[in-house]
Amino acid sequence: GLPVPLNTGNTIAFENVSFGYAANDKQVLEKVNLRFNPGEKIALVGVNGSGKSTIIKLLLGLYDHYSGEITINGESILKHDIQQYRKQFSVVQQDFQYYACTVAENLLMDKANISAEAVSEQIGKALQEVELNLDRTPEELLNTYITSEFSTDGLSLSKGQYQKMAIARIFVSKRNFIILDEPTSSLDPVAEYQLFNHILEHFHDKTIVIISHRLTAAKSADKIYLIDGGTVKESGTHEQLMSQEGKYSELYRLQAEKYL
Ligand code: ADP
Repeated sequence: GLPVPLNTGNTIAFENVSFGYAANDKQVLEKVNLRFNPGEKIALVGVNGSGKSTIIKLLLGLYDHYSGEITINGESILKHDIQQYRKQFSVVQQDFQYYACTVAENLLMDKANISAEAVSEQIGKALQEVELNLDRTPEELLNTYITSEFSTDGLSLSKGQYQKMAIARIFVSKRNFIILDEPTSSLDPVAEYQLFNHILEHFHDKTIVIISHRLTAAKSADKIYLIDGGTVKESGTHEQLMSQEGKYSELYRLQAEKYL
């Protein structure tokens, strides 16, 4: 397949993408058009079941039986080496932790050949970025399992702490395309909003896609797509969508009352 540049940003686009999981299933996505430009901060928002995670699965190249096109720099992703294509993404999902691994292994999955010293330095820095204090030194965390099931000095983390640890991984990864799929559902809305803003500022040169059913979390994105019933209902900045007085502004007002 075609090579994928891994050290620069790529433009990925969905063009009229329709998709159903199985041959005779109903379409889960219908004529979806999306564009991810290098360095852009994109949010996919919408209620549960609207199709956000399915879009991410297609973006990662997990299925090829869709109609329409998904392109990278104008060429179908299906023409590319899929393993290499995937290496441009750093993905954080709601339950993405490796429970039988140490904190170091969780944070440094794709960094097998660096010194222990460099590893503990990076761990310390990454945990600081997400404001996660585990009461252990970075050196101790090299050998600390993320649950006590696997060793006597393992950690016992809350759901929110697990999620912060999963997010910390993006601070040590050098990939150009970061996907955050509801990674902060266990944080309170204010902490979530602050962490997202920190991430958006820190990675100003990377492409970031935030998926959230909480509209408040994603309001500083460059472009927000409201996904509804498998289609892009509205798109624009938060301010544009609010002044449109459509579905986004309705949902936003409802949620702001509930969460803030
Ligand atoms: P969201 O991420 O917005 O919550 P999803 O993309 O997970 O939405 O789901 C969109 C629709 O696709 C839902 O109706 C869901 O039930 C369906 N769906 C999700 N995953 C699968 C699957 N593996 N097989 C069949 N249907 C699925």
